[in-house]
Amino acid sequence: MIYDLIVIGAGSGGVRAARIASVHGAKVAMIENNKFGGTCVNVGCVPKKFFYYLSQINKDIANYKSYGCKISDPQINWRKFIQKKDKEITRLNTIYENILNNNKIKIIKGSAKFIGSKKILVGKKILQAKKFIIATGGKPKKTDFLEGNKHVNTSDDIFSLKKLPKRMTIEGGGYIAIEFAYIFANLGISINLIYRGKRILKTFDEDIVDFLIKNNPNNKIKIHFEKTITEVNKLKKEYVVRLDDKKIIKTDYVLSATGRIANTKNLGLEKTKVQINDNHSIKVNRHFQTHEKNIYAVGDVIDYVNLTPVAIRQGHFLADKLFNNKKMIEYDFTNIPTAVFTSPQIGTVGLTLEMAKKNKIDAYELTTSFKSMKKTFLTKDKDTFYKLVISKKDKTILGIHIISDDAAELIQLLAVNVVARNTLDDFKKTVAVHPTSSEEIITI
Ligand code: NDP
Repeated sequence: MIYDLIVIGAGSGGVRAARIASVHGAKVAMIENNKFGGTCVNVGCVPKKFFYYLSQINKDIANYKSYGCKISDPQINWRKFIQKKDKEITRLNTIYENILNNNKIKIIKGSAKFIGSKKILVGKKILQAKKFIIATGGKPKKTDFLEGNKHVNTSDDIFSLKKLPKRMTIEGGGYIAIEFAYIFANLGISINLIYRGKRILKTFDEDIVDFLIKNNPNNKIKIHFEKTITEVNKLKKEYVVRLDDKKIIKTDYVLSATGRIANTKNLGLEKTKVQINDNHSIKVNRHFQTHEKNIYAVGDVIDYVNLTPVAIRQGHFLADKLFNNKKMIEYDFTNIPTAVFTSPQIGTVGLTLEMAKKNKIDAYELTTSFKSMKKTFLTKDKDTFYKLVISKKDKTILGIHIISDDAAELIQLLAVNVVARNTLDDFKKTVAVHPTSSEEIITI
C-alpha cells in the first residue's frame, strides 16, 4: 500500500498535520517511537505548568497570611505530586493516540529511516508514501564539560526529579533555565544561575527583564553573569561545580538548559536530498518543503520559533495546502505572543523599542508600574509593569510587553491588538473594567 502521507513524529505539529490531512481524505500513517504528544505533553509545557502552579503555594499562603489568616506551613509531598503529574500525562498520551485512531490514521510504533525519497524503513518493514512530513521535534542540547557530564541533568530529567533538593545550579539564560530558576526558588530552593552573557532572556524587553530580576523570590536566585560551567564532580552526597573563573559552587542538583537540538540524526536523510543546517535542523522554504520536493518538515525540527502553537499552525497550514488547497488559511508569524512562566510571569508580543529602532521604525513607549491590589497588605514592592510600543506615525500598537502574576493569560488577548494593528486611540476608546490590574493598560 502507498500512503498519501506519512508523518514522522506524533507531537503537536505532527498530530495536527496528520489529523487535518486525514479529514481532507488523505490516507495517512503516523510513525512514533516514543510516547504520544511529543515534548510539550511529556517533558515540556504541560508538566512545567504543573510545576509552576505548585511553586506558587508559598507566595499565595504568605499573601493570605497578610490578610490576617493563620495558615501553617505547607507540607509538599513531592512523590505524590510527581505521581499525579505522570497520571495526567498518561491520560493526555491516550487522548493524542485516540485523535489518531478516531481519524483512521494508521499508527506504526518504531523509528523511521528514509531509504529513498518515497520509502522509509520502520523496524524491518518498508513503508511507502507520496508525501512525508518530518515532525520529530528536538531534544535538550547537553553542554560538553571538561568532566562530569554524567552528573548533569536536562529538562527531560527534571520532570522525574525524585525529591526536592536544597540547592540547585542551573546553566543557561533562556526560557527553560529562567522558568526553572523561578519555579524552584519559589519552592524555597537556593539557586545559582550560571549565564554566559550579560543579559538573560536576551530577546525580551530589557526593562521587563530588569523588573523580573528585581522580583527575586526571597533572594533565593543568585545570577552569575558572563560565566560558564567547566566541570562537575561528585563529592559524597553533593556536587562540586567549577566555573570558568575557577569559582566553586557546592550544590545538590545540576541542570543544564542551554538550548535544544533538532532530532534529525538516524532519519536516513542522507538517502534523500533533504538538507540540514549547521545546528542539525532541517532546511525548508516558507511552505515547509525541504530540498526533496515530496518531503516536508514542521515544528522544532526546523528550528523556526520553537513553540507548540507555532508547530500546530505549521502542521495545519501544511495539511491544508497539500490536501485541500481551497481551505487553506495563510499563516502570519509576524506577531507571535509568548509567555515565560516566572513569578511574576512575562508576556510579550510584537516589537520591542530596540527592535523597532533596528528596523528603522519611528516608535515610542508608554509604561506603567504598580503593586497589584491583591498584595495590598503583603508588600510595598511593585509586582506589575506594562509597556506599549507605539508607532509615532499613526499610533499603531507595535508591541506589548508585560510582567504580572497573570501575564500569560493577559498577553493572549492583548496580542489581538497587535495582530489587528489597533491603535493607542482604540485602547483609549475602550472603557476600563474596575478594579482590575489590566485597566491600567487601557488608561496608560
Ligand atoms: P534558549 O535558546 O531559550 O536558551 C538557551 C540558553 O542557553 C541561552 O541563554 C544561551 O545563551 C545559553 N547557551 C547556549 N549554548 C550554551 C553553551 N554552550 N554554554 C553556556 N550557555 C549556552 O533554549 P532553552 O533550552 O531555554 O529553551 C528551548 C526552547 O524551548 C526555546 O526556544 C523556547 O522556544 C522553548 N520553550 C518555551 C517555553 C515557553 O513558551 N514558556 C518554555 C520552555 C521552553 P545566549 O543567550 O548567550 O545565547
